[in-house]
Amino acid sequence: TMDFASRVERVEPSATLAISNAASELEAEGHDVVDLSVGEPDFPTPENVVQAGKDAMDAGHTGYTSSNGIPELKDAIVDKLADDGLDYATDEVVVTPGGKQGLFEVIMSLIDDGDEVVLLDPAWVSYEAMVKMAGGTLSRVDTSPYDFQLEPALDELADVVSDDTELLVVNSPSNPTGAVYSDAAMEGVRDLAVEHDVAVISDEIYKEITYGVESTSLGSLDGMGDRTITLNGFSKAYSMTGWRLGYYAAPQALVDQSSKLHSHSVSCAVNFVQHAGVEALQNTEDAVAEMVEAFESRRDLLVDLFDDHGVHAATPDGAFYLMPEVADDDQAWCEAAIEDAHVATVPGSAFGTPGYARLSYAASEERLKEGVQRLADEGLL
Ligand code: PLP
Repeated sequence: TMDFASRVERVEPSATLAISNAASELEAEGHDVVDLSVGEPDFPTPENVVQAGKDAMDAGHTGYTSSNGIPELKDAIVDKLADDGLDYATDEVVVTPGGKQGLFEVIMSLIDDGDEVVLLDPAWVSYEAMVKMAGGTLSRVDTSPYDFQLEPALDELADVVSDDTELLVVNSPSNPTGAVYSDAAMEGVRDLAVEHDVAVISDEIYKEITYGVESTSLGSLDGMGDRTITLNGFSKAYSMTGWRLGYYAAPQALVDQSSKLHSHSVSCAVNFVQHAGVEALQNTEDAVAEMVEAFESRRDLLVDLFDDHGVHAATPDGAFYLMPEVADDDQAWCEAAIEDAHVATVPGSAFGTPGYARLSYAASEERLKEGVQRLADEGLL
């Protein structure tokens, strides 16, 4: 018999998986499921990006690339980051097969057994799993009493962050809340990180998807350049989830270490996908604007629908998620939502915040209306 490593045994399988399994089973039985559980845009990848991928394949870009990415893409990433006020050199960029792989490499490179990592709850599920696999310990600050804003929670964050803290993870706009943190909140994070000499991962994968506000890049603040890992990817902004393309930019000393993990595991991101990535960064302004506009009207619709039913949900300024406060037992609520109303959602407890559910509005307005109507009909609102 096999004796499994504790690094995998201490991690739970993804909670969202149980939901999608239940949804698939119902669909296989012929039921119509309104799936609001998914974390991916419902738009096709922009046509010119698809074409660039095909052209690259035709041109023979099908072999390995330099481990950290093709120079054209790394240069395009450096330019994009410069637009965000970030000053990274080409060699400080690592192109990864998905942002998730980038996070994994960074966390594995920074966290030893017993190192403390601070998360802001509710937090995306994979941060916890990765920290646990690395052997780290978690400290958490709950933003749910403040409509998921960080600024009012800064005092609590100050109580948690100490000289023993190795790493803080900030995700704005946030999955699962859609919250965009204020500049004052970001400056508060900076002050704590500098005071206690803490490294910060700024997960900016939803940065392009905001409604009338901008999310400041933490690495652009004074004192943050040499302690910030800026993480981003192509999945959300350019609707490229299945292409698996992302990147991080970090101080050279970290990249020197994490590149070893990168080259000894994935070798490199897919060659022709990297070429499509250049097109995505350079020629998708209109396509992105169109998607963001659609997300914004859906957000308005969904917030209004919950409001009509007297259910409180903080209005998110970014990403494509809404977290209404649904029931003390959010797991039971989500089970009833899928079993009785055939609406798939994710319980807040999966993100460290019981009492809430996460709904994705990467779905048509018609489906959003249908979903909320069904929840109301089953007495769940
Ligand atoms: N970070 C956050 C907060 C996410 O929600 C996701 C995807 O769900 C990722 C990172 C990673 O995305 P990908 O690996 O598709 O680039």
